[in-house]
Amino acid sequence: GNWVRRREQSVIDSKLPDTGTTIFTTMSQLANECGALNLSQGVPDFDPPEALIDSVRRHFSGRSNQYAPMAGAPQLLEAIGQNLQQRFNVEFDPQNQITVTPGATEALFCAIQALVGPGDEVIVFDPAYDSYLPAITLAGGRARHIALLAPDFCVDWKNVKEKVNERTRLIIVNTPHNPTGTTLTFDDLNSLASIVRDKSIFVLSDEVYEHMVFDQKPAVSVLAHDELRGKSLAVSSFGKTFHATGWKVGYLVANEELTREFRKVHQFCQFSVVTPVQLGLAEFLHSCPQHLTELPAFYQRLRDRLAHNLRAGPLKFSPSAGTYFQMVDYAHLSDLPDTQVAHHLTRSLGVATIPISVFYPPDSRQNGLRLCFAKHDQTLDEAAQRLNNIESCLQTIA
Ligand code: PMP
Ligand code: GLN
Repeated sequence: GNWVRRREQSVIDSKLPDTGTTIFTTMSQLANECGALNLSQGVPDFDPPEALIDSVRRHFSGRSNQYAPMAGAPQLLEAIGQNLQQRFNVEFDPQNQITVTPGATEALFCAIQALVGPGDEVIVFDPAYDSYLPAITLAGGRARHIALLAPDFCVDWKNVKEKVNERTRLIIVNTPHNPTGTTLTFDDLNSLASIVRDKSIFVLSDEVYEHMVFDQKPAVSVLAHDELRGKSLAVSSFGKTFHATGWKVGYLVANEELTREFRKVHQFCQFSVVTPVQLGLAEFLHSCPQHLTELPAFYQRLRDRLAHNLRAGPLKFSPSAGTYFQMVDYAHLSDLPDTQVAHHLTRSLGVATIPISVFYPPDSRQNGLRLCFAKHDQTLDEAAQRLNNIESCLQTIA
């Protein structure tokens, strides 16, 4: 399995018996042990902008080291509201529709706890980011899996419509999509809107890679969709946007009613987020809005560099449309399961990747690897060169 799936004899009746340590921890650890180039966990090689670090440092040295308000520092809520207004031409009430969270993970978790109850169904598209399912299980809900259609990984909305029933409570979408690097279109959102119309079904939209969309495509958000906005909770992450994954700061945007329910959980899960970091982010959003608009070009160059190098080798892929991930396919070279291949490549080629089967239900067989290209040029070049030897490397698997 992709996770460490072990049912240990224990006095504890585990609520998550099939859950082990996440693949991100596992692969990064293995990469370190092997001294491998680490293209596995989504961690940028880059530092946050200097001005942002200066701002945060100033607030740490000042008098801002006590609890921030539960919903977020007012300065940051205002700054996020202004940014949303500029991007989507929609006004959000910072005090009642935006909540700052310790990363997107907590926002996703609390949103699911707030909305899903025992017996409720949640529609999840496979491959799906690995934090959704445990959160659904802990809420007592049941995931209804719908596979994204290869090779483009688009949503079969007709299938979604057929799977929706009176127990459906939530549909989770993720655009740009981890791990496939695809993006939803405005037509997709229209289809989604027609499915939830007049039903008490909500949409949880994971948009953490919203500022990494390539080839001049517009970023699609439920917040920009007039009908979906009122039924959706949108999740963002400053970790991705500002090369600061270790800070764990994100936010959730939803209408007043959904925000109220969300905060009932958030206030007892985390309560509030590191104050000086919030104040630094607020200042930086005001002083340096161009960071966001420059991000697509910044990552597109790295996507293109990796793609160019990989084209000299045997791996199959279509260039990522968004995120900082490139998915590659080796099915034409081997039918070995991707978890085994990922481990072997880390040890033998010295390149760590993420096997995409971890984003599928247990025991699904896949032959795909996810590469993170948020890396220095040299690392990308060297990693691609090594990966281009995958064919002979796979022959050495016992
Ligand atoms: N959703 C997706 C799709 C992600 O890839 C990640 C992390 N990379 C998260 C949520 C969690 O983000 P955060 O680190 O802000 O909790
Ligand atoms: N979301 C990141 C990824 O997909 C990892 C997050 C984590 O390590 N928990 O690689």
